[in-house]
Amino acid sequence: MERTHCDILISGGGIAGMCAAAAFGSKGYSVICVDPMPDNAASKPDLRTTAFLQPSQALLEAAGLWEGLGPIAAPLQVMRIVDAGGENPEPRVVKDFDAADLSDAPFGWNFTNMAIRKVALARLKALPNVEFRAGTSTTRIMTRESEALVTLSDGSRISAKLLIGADGRHSPTRDAVGIDVKTTRYGQKAVVFCVSHDEPHGNVSTEVHRSGGPFTLVPLPDQNGKHRSAIVWMDHGPDCVARMELSDDELSAAATERSAGINGTLTVEGPRAVWPIISQIAPRLTSERTALIAEAAHVVPPIGAQGLNMSLGDLRVLLEATEKHDLGSRAMLDAYEKARHPEVRLRVTGIDMLNRASMAGAQGLRDMRAGMLNAFYAVGPVRKTLMKAGLGIR
Ligand SMILES: Cc1cc2nc3c(=O)[nH]c(=O)nc-3n(C[C@H](O)[C@H](O)[C@H](O)COP(=O)(O)OP(=O)(O)OC[C@H]3O[C@@H](n4cnc5c(N)ncnc54)[C@H](O)[C@@H]3O)c2cc1C
Repeated sequence: MERTHCDILISGGGIAGMCAAAAFGSKGYSVICVDPMPDNAASKPDLRTTAFLQPSQALLEAAGLWEGLGPIAAPLQVMRIVDAGGENPEPRVVKDFDAADLSDAPFGWNFTNMAIRKVALARLKALPNVEFRAGTSTTRIMTRESEALVTLSDGSRISAKLLIGADGRHSPTRDAVGIDVKTTRYGQKAVVFCVSHDEPHGNVSTEVHRSGGPFTLVPLPDQNGKHRSAIVWMDHGPDCVARMELSDDELSAAATERSAGINGTLTVEGPRAVWPIISQIAPRLTSERTALIAEAAHVVPPIGAQGLNMSLGDLRVLLEATEKHDLGSRAMLDAYEKARHPEVRLRVTGIDMLNRASMAGAQGLRDMRAGMLNAFYAVGPVRKTLMKAGLGIR
């Protein structure tokens, strides 16, 4: 079979891979993006929601994605941290981090993953230099100094100047180019679902800490006259598995109690899913003609909306490297590695520490966590530095 030549082959069409295809496609590169999932958002029910933080907006605009996302965005104006780690499951420390302390813009905007996927697919279809091959996977990868040679599951062969591995936490690209990975397991999982509630969320995203991990309520737009939020409930694995077996009424009651009454009574709406929680980092982000981005390079527990925003950070740095060096050259890949890996390491370590603090079960440790939250919050400059660090701005 004849070989197809392109500038960039992206292995993986999850949110990160699709954003990469839209970003590089909008810059005029010829891009092929492949993913084994079929080309139909509804056939990949992903119940998660993703908050794009403020610094991502410019990249999404340049990629031609913001036009579709803007009208369906739920703004995140306040990040509320609640410590409910006392004797009873009640809020004992409540701290609001308000985006207005930094600028006029909200911290970010929340979307369902299915909505993001729909907008991204439409954008890729509109770009004549981008081909999204759904239902097709990368099966064989060989690289040499001048190109990456990739065989796909339909037998077609592609030659690309740059191969981007955006194929998730079990990345076949990472394996094929011989990059190892360090994984930390916490014995935790997350149950994700949507709820309606009687009190409005006021565009506040709330993390409630008690033990086992954070319980996060992320604002969604109202629907059918009901206030709605997305829930990510992290806890010890067996407790999450047991929660998957509860009836909707039982889960609603358990979630209302665990939320410490934030937003009033919660009512489960729609299906639920369970996700394993790990931390993972690749010791290198590059190999000959190859760059890893997103979960292929790093995985973090879902705290502070960091996961995909780190992935868009990878993409931003990769785009900058292509502006200064030849596409896929060693110099370009070195520039990406040098600018990005230390930042990724720092964030993976920071989120690991936050997760361990949130898991604390012993009363003494929970009291220490509440004390630290109070102390950090009390000092204005420290509070602002923390907010900026969370957003990824300096
Ligand atoms: C419960 C939960 C809540 C989260 N909430 C947030 C949040 O609010 N904000 C945030 O920023 N992040 C959040 N995250 C993290 C975020 O969802 C992930 O960072 C993001 O979805 C990962 O994107 P990805 O494209 O790297 O990986 P994936 O979505 O896993 O995509 C990888 C793709 O690669 C494809 N693939 C696999 N094998 C091959 C192959 N051989 N060839 C080609 N393609 C292949 C797969 O089919 C898949 O589509 C959350 C994560 C979890 C678990």
